[in-house]
Amino acid sequence: MKIVINDTELEVIKGDITKCTCDAIVNAANNGLLGGGGVDGAIHRAGGPEIMEECKKIRERTGGCPTGEAVITTAGNLPAKYVIHTVGPVWKGGAYQERELLRNCYINSLKLAEEHFVKTIAFPNISTGVYRFPKHEAAQIALETVKECIQNQFIRSIQSILFVCFDDENYHIYKTMIR
Ligand code: ADP
Repeated sequence: MKIVINDTELEVIKGDITKCTCDAIVNAANNGLLGGGGVDGAIHRAGGPEIMEECKKIRERTGGCPTGEAVITTAGNLPAKYVIHTVGPVWKGGAYQERELLRNCYINSLKLAEEHFVKTIAFPNISTGVYRFPKHEAAQIALETVKECIQNQFIRSIQSILFVCFDDENYHIYKTMIR
């Protein structure tokens, strides 16, 4: 499923983000940048130790990555050039700025990608795994935020944005919502 807005392609696919041959893939990381389960675990497993080495250096320098922010590393052995690690909010019922923080993840990842002249970028469904953000609302925020970024013309080098859905539920939600 694909749409085009102001010459930027938005596409929804089902699959494993570690297999994407984009310039940058986004990781749903945690504040410590020390790896974990879900997509984070898959990226570090497939990408090899080089990614963690860079994460550790960032952690030593800055103490980690605050929720809603993003940092960039090599993609190690992955087919991508970069991994952009962003930290989604843990869903605590909706009264703790979860929506705004999730929105920031997409904006800050795209900003960092632009700074590195990324042309193609792939996002996982941030926060919808162990962080339990309601999937429907998370998809709405992801799609709206990315579209706003394109329409506000802060996107210049990025030509293609991929939403990589791993589970059937997210894939179905994104397919019906993208337009
Ligand atoms: P979070 O802690 O942000 O919730 P998770 O990794 O637990 O992060 O889940 C985020 C999303 O990533 C979930 O929708 C999950 O299905 C998905 N996911 C898990 N493994 C992969 C993978 N290899 N590629 C793409 N998405 C994945």
